[in-house]
Amino acid sequence: MAVPDRFGLLPAGPLLLTTEETRLLWAFVHGDIMDAAVRAWLRASLGFCPRHTWAYAVVEIELWEAGVGGRGGHQPFDVCVLYEDLCRTLSARLGRPRGWGRRAEAALAPARRCYLCTQLAGPRREGFALGYANSNSAALAAEANLLRHTRRWCAATVEEWLPSACPACLGGRSPGADDGGARLCRLHLAEAVRTRTADDAGAAARVAEAADRLASLARRLAALARSMTAAGAPADAGTEASWIEALGFFGGWQFPAYLAGIPADGAP
Ligand SMILES: [Zn+2]
Ligand SMILES: [Zn+2]
Repeated sequence: MAVPDRFGLLPAGPLLLTTEETRLLWAFVHGDIMDAAVRAWLRASLGFCPRHTWAYAVVEIELWEAGVGGRGGHQPFDVCVLYEDLCRTLSARLGRPRGWGRRAEAALAPARRCYLCTQLAGPRREGFALGYANSNSAALAAEANLLRHTRRWCAATVEEWLPSACPACLGGRSPGADDGGARLCRLHLAEAVRTRTADDAGAAARVAEAADRLASLARRLAALARSMTAAGAPADAGTEASWIEALGFFGGWQFPAYLAGIPADGAP
């Protein structure tokens, strides 16, 4: 069965970034994320839309060549910082015991539009738009689109993250199908809560499970970010996979599954 695309999920395939997307995301990882108003926007929008969730990671991992920690570069440091915050924030919202139904529904739905989509839809600048520090955005897009380092990350950690991948993303099954209480991504969890395809108790249990999972993910993302600092200890395999689990939860799983060579039915 085809993967449903009603959430704007990415198709299973390469992610071809445009020059303008690359220019905006490259500027984003160099500064916008530090801005308090942008951080508030990203909390309200639950990060980016599915395409820009993964595009953001691709731009940082492919283009940021130098860094500290054992790996040196091509690592998702900004991604860990942002998603540690988003996982912790959403976990707290979902973990409230009372009124889980409508409250969970509201917590799982973005209250603002994707920051990148909003910038892309803005008025076009006259003339040539310079990239961050005069970088050549077309050349950076071509480099990012090779996906060399992102592919390596996704393939190297697949055994860690595949058990956490959303079956509704990978197999096209409807959320709430009899899947043994499998772990749903945010988009399919929202669908299961909204439509109550699971009974109320089942849906409440899924929300509670997601709140616990996000709290655990936040801790692993913080450890992974520390491993990318000068004093940080190396990360173990589960910690290395945490950023893929976080982005899979927020933006769907087709892209990392494609990069790791997982067939569309989700079978390893
Ligand atoms: Zn977007
Ligand atoms: Zn899903």
